[in-house]
Amino acid sequence: MRAVRGRHTKPELTVRRAAHALGLRYRLFRDDLPGRPDLTFPKWRTVLFVNGCFWHQHGCSRSKLPKTNRKFWKAKLQRNAVRDRSNYDLLAQQNWRVLILWECELAKSDVAGTLKGWFLSR
Ligand SMILES: [Zn+2]
Repeated sequence: MRAVRGRHTKPELTVRRAAHALGLRYRLFRDDLPGRPDLTFPKWRTVLFVNGCFWHQHGCSRSKLPKTNRKFWKAKLQRNAVRDRSNYDLLAQQNWRVLILWECELAKSDVAGTLKGWFLSR
């Protein structure tokens, strides 16, 4: 579990580097959009969230609750999940395509290939 949720975490940097290498133009943390997406690709009307498995409760092995204060964490993380869903809904209503990359997938997958598949193969 990560103790601090930063704005410039390693998974985010990985994605940004890959997007840049592919020539995909993006903006960071647009405050005017629900959930302040990590990356926004205006040309594709697409937003991308790089989600930490714990904070966003991916359901994988990295998202297990701590042994202490379980009640607190459960309530807190459930609120996160509800807020995530409502942000994704709001974005979709504004005709944004919402893409999510999970921390655990980033560790083992070819990020550039994933981005290519999403943006450049149509
Ligand atoms: Zn995960």
